[in-house]
Amino acid sequence: MTDAEKIRCSNDRDLFDALSRDPTIVRIKEHIARLEDDVPFRTRRRLLSTAVRLSPAMAPSLRSMADACIEKLGVSLPLELFVFPSPQHNAMCFRPEEGRLLVMFSSALLEDFEGSELVFVMGHELGHHVYAHHDIPIGSVLRGDEKPDPRLALSLFAWSRYAEISADRAGAYCADDRQAVARSLFKLASGLSGRTISFELDDFLSQVDQMQEEDADPSIRTPSEDWFSTHPFSPLRVKALELFHGSELVNSSGDSTAQLEMGVQKLMSLMEPSYLEAKTVAAESMRRLLFAGSLVVARADGEITQGEVGVFEKFFGKGAFKDTVDVGALEKDLDNRIERVREEAGVTQAMQVLQDLCIVARAEGHTMEPERLVLEAIATKLGLSAGFVTRTLEVDLGPD
Ligand SMILES: [Zn+2]
Repeated sequence: MTDAEKIRCSNDRDLFDALSRDPTIVRIKEHIARLEDDVPFRTRRRLLSTAVRLSPAMAPSLRSMADACIEKLGVSLPLELFVFPSPQHNAMCFRPEEGRLLVMFSSALLEDFEGSELVFVMGHELGHHVYAHHDIPIGSVLRGDEKPDPRLALSLFAWSRYAEISADRAGAYCADDRQAVARSLFKLASGLSGRTISFELDDFLSQVDQMQEEDADPSIRTPSEDWFSTHPFSPLRVKALELFHGSELVNSSGDSTAQLEMGVQKLMSLMEPSYLEAKTVAAESMRRLLFAGSLVVARADGEITQGEVGVFEKFFGKGAFKDTVDVGALEKDLDNRIERVREEAGVTQAMQVLQDLCIVARAEGHTMEPERLVLEAIATKLGLSAGFVTRTLEVDLGPD
């Protein structure tokens, strides 16, 4: 087993394997492969015409960082580096074309990140390649014309977060510098260059702790919506990296790998649809809101279509939608169900249901204005911002 394989997050591997066998994923991958046969090397052509290729002579230190990451992670393909003009800190790795690996950085990131911070970002991007994350066409599945099973959509969401955890570990493994890795995440989170503000790791981590405490206390209604953003920063990623640094994968006297993965799973369980099965009062109130909410959203643009019934039943089980389901009555009861979630579940859980409602709406292939308005109204009544709906409906899901 390669070093990169050893440090890969086990939930990323398991979900990846399961998704790779999913018939919808297999079919969409075949479709994409046919398109690529028709128009090959699209990404590289686009990069050559819109970005600047950084030759080894132009960026010798970046090149040697890349070579060190390639060596540590066991990347076998030749690598081309690109920069594009942008004030945002951003980087991305593309699916290889013509046997070449393509990694692109924003200009701001290259100017503001230094040394091991940059190695972390480089290792993170190469990690996505080493773990073949681009083999799961998450963007095409969730944006395509075909309506995916909502459960599949939610699995993809959950997997994409574990995929980021693996990529972060690959980056941390390459950087081998806990402070620099945290500083890198701090720069991604704050947009700061580090030139005017000095970074304090302990203060940064205590902010994460505070968010977690407030989140556990339903009486504090500060919407910590950052919990739910996968990119460019989630406090969960910082926490997950701290667990990684404290494990035997980094230090032989650290926690066992099993303990590490359990800790990560506990962190991430805040963001997984486990409430569909859980037998707690909070989980039941969440299910009841999801049930009513998804039907009310589906009916927002007129009658509920056969397709929408199909999507709904994939979620709640066959036969869950009967003619006897009175959507009008559910709509009248919606405020009551929202109130129950506010009283019985935490802020994070409220966000979880709202996010799932958005994913279900998206999974129907398109989101119309009336549906969006219903979702925004639910958001407001849950005490969340309407912007949360917009972000979830529009988030670009490719690994970056
Ligand atoms: Zn990433």
